[in-house]
Amino acid sequence: MEKDTSNKLFERLKLKMSCECIEWERGSGDMEIKFSVRDILRRGKEISGQNICIFGWVRTRRDSKAGVSFVEVNDGSSVKNLQVILDHGKFGEPGSSEVLSKLHTGASVMVEGVITPSPGKGQEIELVASHVEVYGEADPSTYPLQKKRHSFEFLRQIAHLRPRTNTISAVMRLRSALSLAIHDFFRKRGFYYIHTPIITTSDCEGAGEVFRITTGRDGEEFFGRPTYLTVSGQLQAEIYALALGKVYTFGPAFRAENSNTRRHLAEFWMVEPEVAFYDLNDDIALAKEFITAMIEAMFTECEEELNFFQRFIDENLMDRLNNVLKKGFEIISYTEAIKMLSQHGKELEVAPSWGDDLQSEHEKFLTEVMVRGPVVVIDYPRSLKPFYMRVNDDNNTVAAMDILVPGVGEIVGGSQREERFDVLVEQMRLKGMKLEDYEWYLDLRRYGSVPHAGFGLGLERFIQFLTGVQNIRETIPFPRTPGHALF
Ligand code: ATP
Ligand code: MN
Repeated sequence: MEKDTSNKLFERLKLKMSCECIEWERGSGDMEIKFSVRDILRRGKEISGQNICIFGWVRTRRDSKAGVSFVEVNDGSSVKNLQVILDHGKFGEPGSSEVLSKLHTGASVMVEGVITPSPGKGQEIELVASHVEVYGEADPSTYPLQKKRHSFEFLRQIAHLRPRTNTISAVMRLRSALSLAIHDFFRKRGFYYIHTPIITTSDCEGAGEVFRITTGRDGEEFFGRPTYLTVSGQLQAEIYALALGKVYTFGPAFRAENSNTRRHLAEFWMVEPEVAFYDLNDDIALAKEFITAMIEAMFTECEEELNFFQRFIDENLMDRLNNVLKKGFEIISYTEAIKMLSQHGKELEVAPSWGDDLQSEHEKFLTEVMVRGPVVVIDYPRSLKPFYMRVNDDNNTVAAMDILVPGVGEIVGGSQREERFDVLVEQMRLKGMKLEDYEWYLDLRRYGSVPHAGFGLGLERFIQFLTGVQNIRETIPFPRTPGHALF
């Protein structure tokens, strides 16, 4: 077997990095071209006869009596593998071949070869290897990903290896595509992307428990005052909305709530548009347009992943997503929601009662049993919601909107913000807040105040909705929950 000199390897790596964007046509002759497995499978028979080079990890290997080994290679670009054929005449018999002795599940490889129509079932083309290089072996007696399917609980304990599984890699590809689609959505509509701070001084936004920031050094208050990890970028986004008009933030948020549920993380990502001169109806319209556009974007960009989720994770996925596009969103007031739920008191564990928060059981019932689609619940009791939400004319409710979806429950929380100075001050007093900490927020109402509105959408809950994965811990690369933080 020919050994690679470091120079040759360097040449290959250069090619690997530059080839992603060059035209396929230029890769004729014996030039090695690195294309992703996804590209190769998409092109199929069209590239029969081409000499190519792939880089990836071995998923499985099977040695046949007919003198060849079948190696499934995955490079993280696709749920499908590329089947590689190793001829025993060329590479040696399984018992004695140097290459085959290293080609176990998990090993990292480079394979050069010719794309050939596959005589076997299950794949249109395969790669007949001419040269194989093993970068790193994976000892079959210790490599944890031997079985085809592992439980998600098990995979969470090996969060450094779980992206090599089909489900987690597919979720993360979708997460990447979704993140870019989010920026695209707002950019096309004239929004500015504002980086709101991670370290903040506001602790009583009303969104739950905060993490305190400390250097750990005795008696030191680094910033001269208590600071916290942000629970939401909204308040700071409001500052920019009242200057730039249409803005959004998209970044991490932190909540120290001790809720070990399948839809809470201590660190999660939120998309938060904030728009000057918008009222609650505009806000709802924006959220509906946003959710619809994201589903459509995933249909075009992540078709393969969605088909995979439909097949292996949630058989109702496509129906549910299509239903949103077809049926749209039903808007009901909190008061109506309580009335509707009260008629089903017997089917619920906690009796609904005006003034109490909707339990997740109630949210589920509304969106999965009663409406069977997304529900926008508006006009919540003033006492349930944070100080900044605009007080309605009835004086009892605020111009809030939560969007509930089947399978997940609340994915969006938003509102029109209180723009009237006197009403805001009264709200803050009622909630027992220290006005002097919020002079800057009050200034926005003192000087050039305008009606404005916004919402926060939890990225991970949205991914639960888009993929059907049951637990939110599978939607983020490195989940942080009470008692759990790896790396
Ligand atoms: P919930 O009542 O479901 O805990 P919330 O009302 O506290 O959520 P908001 O403050 O309205 O949430 O935040 C806006 C959005 O951020 C929520 O609709 C949800 O999608 C997401 N979100 C909130 N808390 C979490 C969390 N701990 N983990 C993941 N996503 C979250
Ligand atoms: Mn909420």
